[in-house]
Amino acid sequence: MGSESPTNRPASEKKVVVLGGGLAGLSAARRLLQLGFGVTLVEKRAFLGGRAFSFRDRESGIEIDNGQHVFLACNTHYIDYLRDINVIDKTYIQDRFRVQIIRDGVSGELSSSPWLGPMHLLPSFFKYPHLSLFEKLRALYGLMSMKLTNHGKISADIDHETAYEWLKRHGQNDRTIENIWNLFILPALNDNVRSVSAGEMIRVFQEALLKNPSDSRIGVAKIGLTSLNGEPAQAYIEAHGGNLSLGTGVKSICVKDSRVQHVEMQDGSKIASDVFISALPFEVMLEVLPETIVNQKFFSRLHFIETAPIVGLNLWYNKPIMDQAFVAFLNSSVQWVFNKSLIQGSGVGTGQHVYISLSAAWEHVNDSKEKLRGNFTEEMARLFPAARHAKVTRFLAVKERQATFRSLPGTYQHRPNQITPISNLFQAGDWTQTGLPSTMESAVLSGVLAAEALAKNHAHR
Ligand SMILES: Cc1cc2nc3c(=O)[nH]c(=O)nc-3n(C[C@H](O)[C@H](O)[C@H](O)COP(=O)(O)OP(=O)(O)OC[C@H]3O[C@@H](n4cnc5c(N)ncnc54)[C@H](O)[C@@H]3O)c2cc1C
Repeated sequence: MGSESPTNRPASEKKVVVLGGGLAGLSAARRLLQLGFGVTLVEKRAFLGGRAFSFRDRESGIEIDNGQHVFLACNTHYIDYLRDINVIDKTYIQDRFRVQIIRDGVSGELSSSPWLGPMHLLPSFFKYPHLSLFEKLRALYGLMSMKLTNHGKISADIDHETAYEWLKRHGQNDRTIENIWNLFILPALNDNVRSVSAGEMIRVFQEALLKNPSDSRIGVAKIGLTSLNGEPAQAYIEAHGGNLSLGTGVKSICVKDSRVQHVEMQDGSKIASDVFISALPFEVMLEVLPETIVNQKFFSRLHFIETAPIVGLNLWYNKPIMDQAFVAFLNSSVQWVFNKSLIQGSGVGTGQHVYISLSAAWEHVNDSKEKLRGNFTEEMARLFPAARHAKVTRFLAVKERQATFRSLPGTYQHRPNQITPISNLFQAGDWTQTGLPSTMESAVLSGVLAAEALAKNHAHR
């Protein structure tokens, strides 16, 4: 890596250092290589994939995800990423949107009718047992109001009120809020409808459920997340001439005269380059940039961004307790349950591996393993008749305290652009301005935006 002047050189000779090997950094590196740049990616940990990773379970040898990650068919940037790194066939995407929702033993289903365009949920919605006819009409009015809200207006007015306030203003009662709106918002935004911004809620519904029926189809990985997102990306980067440096973190980014001079690593080494893309978490950006830079408004806004936890519970039963790939529950501490044996073939013998995903898990994140095991084994027996006659042979909780950033009222305006005031520093990360919540799609899109902004900037030099 050199620090010579970048002007008048073709892209291929121009070196970019990408900091951080989560999906945003990997996506940026992939796009830069496609655009003909030389790339070196540095990552603190020994493996790639960031917050979407898996680890090898010592006892069973299987890959266990840090948390169930789902995506939708409308997440085209993430899907393109998977295609490019040649693993799209390692995922499963529904042929049409279909979710089973159980409340107090009564099962309902929301599903797409492909020929109805944006109204694709309507037939199943009218059969949905967890709302009265009157509540369904109210909910329909809410959906229509969302559909008719224009994107520009969202950022201006609606981002400062909570989704709950907006829903109340649009005729929703607490039952519709609990039984339909929060059912989707809780996992999609990893937060309760009472906390999140109305604008973010509307964006989620507009993108995921109120467009083309095929957009709403749910996708999951058939293999562990590191095998899906990380290792094939490493192979892609190396095969396209990029370099990787794993296992040492960035200590500081040294800036002089509005340019990054070099990056100092935790092992004491220094990395110089023409241009950098930082794909570090926002809280790390605040630590590694010089104080004078962090105090500038562009970066100081990051202090306003908060994070939310996800707790994931892996239970291995000695016999199958569920047939579905996944199911959602209302009126239960269990939110969504995934059948990992079916999705990833990770059962042991005749048993079944299931995963309980607890979003916005503040009330569980400090619980002991014993308490979680006791409470949730009991609740699962209440929810699944077959679980009453099955034994939990193993239990593993994975706590991610900073799983996602929070989509609180006002957060949207604190998310900075990929182009920074430092002339040779671009940034990526799900938290940068993408118009999307804290998701893999946002991370991948941010990497593409950062790489393309860098390339455009290069073309004008
Ligand atoms: C349990 C859980 C469940 C989730 N479920 C979903 C889901 O269902 N669907 C979905 O779309 N999204 C989901 N997400 C969110 C998704 O994982 C993230 O939005 C996405 O992975 C963020 O990618 P990123 O590259 O922006 O950030 P990160 O993945 O955080 O990447 C940042 C990278 O920088 C590295 N780094 C940190 N400090 C340094 C340093 N000093 N020097 C060098 N490198 C450093 C980190 O190790 C990491 O690799 C979930 C997240 C969690 C934790």
